[in-house]
Amino acid sequence: MMMWNLPKPDIQLSIDEIDDVIARSQVLSPTDKGVVEQLYHEYDNGSGVITRQRHDQTDQRIQGAMKTAYPKTYDGADLSYIRARLMNGVYKCPICSIGLPSTLDHVLPQSKYKALSVCGNNLVPMCRDCNSEKNNEDDRPMLHPYYDRLPIDRRFLYAEVIPTALGGVSFVFRVDDQVLTDPVLREKFNNTFDKCELDKAFSRELVTFLKDKLYKRGLYTIDDVKRYIAGELDREKELNGLNHWKVAVLYGIIESDRLAVEDLIQFL
Ligand SMILES: [Zn+2]
Repeated sequence: MMMWNLPKPDIQLSIDEIDDVIARSQVLSPTDKGVVEQLYHEYDNGSGVITRQRHDQTDQRIQGAMKTAYPKTYDGADLSYIRARLMNGVYKCPICSIGLPSTLDHVLPQSKYKALSVCGNNLVPMCRDCNSEKNNEDDRPMLHPYYDRLPIDRRFLYAEVIPTALGGVSFVFRVDDQVLTDPVLREKFNNTFDKCELDKAFSRELVTFLKDKLYKRGLYTIDDVKRYIAGELDREKELNGLNHWKVAVLYGIIESDRLAVEDLIQFL
């Protein structure tokens, strides 16, 4: 599984689930289905984007009822199968690729897009950290793991490894604009990085990752380290793709000409 990317669920499954939402609602009737179904189609055709104005044309009664249905997707409740369907086969958070995907994130927030509250295609498995870092008042669009597709055949994510004045290193992530050329996608990518504070998450995780790789392996010089990491890099590329943060970091270490082994040890 590539980072930032999940297979897109079939919109028809989400549409079929409207019937169950209606059957369990005090205020909806089967004649309301068409309105919601049309909205789901437009969301899907717009690759997970719909304007606020368009959404707000939906009857307030329907909006409220759809939002009320969301708690029924929690474990043990009537619509928990919706959650189970979306979580099935997702083993890591698609945003950070670190945490367990234990929550569902509303890509378009349910506070503002009430009618999409239980639309499966608007609900993405996400770890608690990434989900809670998101501030829904911040309207900058994030990557949509079901609809947005980042380049997979060329590197666009780089991690520059910078020795710090106090000893140790810091990692600065950047995107290559020549590869991630779509400005909308690039903006979403940068927003995601920023809103979920991924640089912090990756830096924390790096310690664990690098300790595991380097510690007690008798790698005494930076050339030992780089040789060892070159082998690991091939494995990680195979496993996680060219633009996984671990791949970026391993490349960063290999490509750094300023790094001393003491800096890494200090960092760890
Ligand atoms: Zn995460």
